[in-house]
Amino acid sequence: MTGTLFVVATPIGNLEDITLRALRVLKEVDVIACEDTRVTQRLVKNYKIETQLVSYHQHSERGKIEFLIDKLKQGKDVALVSDAGTPGISDPGRLMVMAAAEEGIKVEAVAGPSAVAAALSVSGLPTDRFLFLGFLPHKKKRSTMLKEIVDAKQTVVFYESVHRILKLLEEFKDLELEREIVVIRELTKKFEASYRGLPTEVYRQLINDKVKGEFVVIVASK
Ligand code: SAM
Repeated sequence: MTGTLFVVATPIGNLEDITLRALRVLKEVDVIACEDTRVTQRLVKNYKIETQLVSYHQHSERGKIEFLIDKLKQGKDVALVSDAGTPGISDPGRLMVMAAAEEGIKVEAVAGPSAVAAALSVSGLPTDRFLFLGFLPHKKKRSTMLKEIVDAKQTVVFYESVHRILKLLEEFKDLELEREIVVIRELTKKFEASYRGLPTEVYRQLINDKVKGEFVVIVASK
């Protein structure tokens, strides 16, 4: 019998945000395939989990996929984790899931945190329909994407890095995006904060508060 590939969500900051099932699965599987073993090491050490970790770099995904598929075919169970949150959501994992599915290997979701869901849940903006854009492109296609946000008829949510968050707010100002936005920083961590208002207002709040950490941006619909 082949093993099972468990796609396991892990905390996005606060180490307590992990399900009982995730802890059990991480303990019971034969191998944990991680994005960065040093990051996952901190998590497993905290929960006294001694399962073998193997790295799963996006760039060597092909070779690693074959290695992991072999394990699964030998009847071993594999857990796939990313550095934070849900694998496959703006993170590696998709190709491994596809490869397992093509081999007829059982793939199970061990559901848990994801920054996109956590941010939407505290945004106060309508979430009955939303458009998730992952990370915006840096160069080519950025202006097309920004236009899509300006024209969106539903709430838009995306990830933005600390290096570009102020630039993004300036771009919104230039595009005269006069709508409520919510920028959420450091979800579940010590310096968690939400900034709300028009882009110019959020810009001012962020500058006053020091621009540091990880961000999710949510934009109200047109
Ligand atoms: N797979 C992850 C998930 O399910 O949340 C997302 C991984 S993506 C590579 C990382 C980005 O998610 C960060 O740059 C940031 O925009 C967002 N993010 C992750 N953790 C966050 C947190 N604690 N607070 C705010 N944003 C976060």
